[in-house]
Amino acid sequence: MKNEDYIKFKDYLIPRKKCVVIPHRNPDGDAMGSTLALCSFLNKMGANAVVISPNEAPSFLQWLPGFESVVLFDRQKEQALKLIDEAELIFTLDFNDFSRTGSEMEAVLHKKKATYIMIDHHQQPSDYAEFMYSDTSMSSTSEMVYHFINQFGALALIDKNIATCIYTGILTDTGQFKFPNTTATTHQIAAHLMELGVDHFKIHQEIYDTNDQSKLELLGCCLSSMEVLRDYNTAILRLSAEELEQHYYKKGDTEGLVNYGLSLKGIIFSVIFIEHKDEGIIKISFRSQGNFSVNEFARAHFEGGGHDNAAGGKSNDSLETTIERFKSLLPQYLEKLNQ
Ligand code: 5GP
Ligand code: MN
Repeated sequence: MKNEDYIKFKDYLIPRKKCVVIPHRNPDGDAMGSTLALCSFLNKMGANAVVISPNEAPSFLQWLPGFESVVLFDRQKEQALKLIDEAELIFTLDFNDFSRTGSEMEAVLHKKKATYIMIDHHQQPSDYAEFMYSDTSMSSTSEMVYHFINQFGALALIDKNIATCIYTGILTDTGQFKFPNTTATTHQIAAHLMELGVDHFKIHQEIYDTNDQSKLELLGCCLSSMEVLRDYNTAILRLSAEELEQHYYKKGDTEGLVNYGLSLKGIIFSVIFIEHKDEGIIKISFRSQGNFSVNEFARAHFEGGGHDNAAGGKSNDSLETTIERFKSLLPQYLEKLNQ
């Protein structure tokens, strides 16, 4: 976004306007953190803003300040449709295409005429937004919300609640400040957020230390069937619908599992296949280290996308067929996976 755009926003686009703020379907820490932070900021700027999430967030995010007023598109459809219908400004955060909200919400957004503002750090953004703040070098959309607020000269409006939301998004999307997307600026922002009262230890505990026993048992189950293909420096993890059921699967229980594959010495490509019976699809998460782009891989073969080192996709085949298809693709990447 250009400087003039921020002036326009501050003076007449935001005050008194009806705004909705939308994260992607199956929102993660960054999606919820960034939308709740922005929503609260917009309201402080005099707007009438609300977060509409395509579906529910995992329980380890439900303590976030402002979470209680999130409207769920799939469960509170009438209310959500009314809010979208009345919206003058629609902010879409942490995703690059309407399809990331799910097919039903996607159709609603395609039809709805409003001023769209995208804030996002994924590659290949679609061009629906009149105002686009897209930067793939950013650690997280939450970090971008901080910069967005700063562009208004409004850092003073960041209170402890907004700071907590932004910190959560940065923490989760950087893998606890570990991934290469973490910069000196990311740390400077985190430091400022702590000065504003963020309780980093409490946030960390809420997100990472509130596991149920069944979730850890699911992790054990998943790790015990891990396949390592040394020729391709690749690790394959899988969870069948039956295994999910046996371990009382709840939303969020499989988050982060794919990273265990990457923690193996020498492994640069890790994938997890999860059989979601209710949606009738195999949900796939890809992670890589170094130059192997899982964004390109997911786009080319599994109707997905994301970032160079973290992407997702899906398959309509069975779990076994999907994994076999995945394996059959690896020989064409032999060289890239051995660089
Ligand atoms: P995860 O594997 O944690 O679900 O997602 C990893 C990254 O890829 C996230 O940034 C997420 O937004 C993105 N992503 C996940 N699934 C998809 C998908 O089906 N399509 C696209 N374009 N991006 C995805
Ligand atoms: Mn993100």
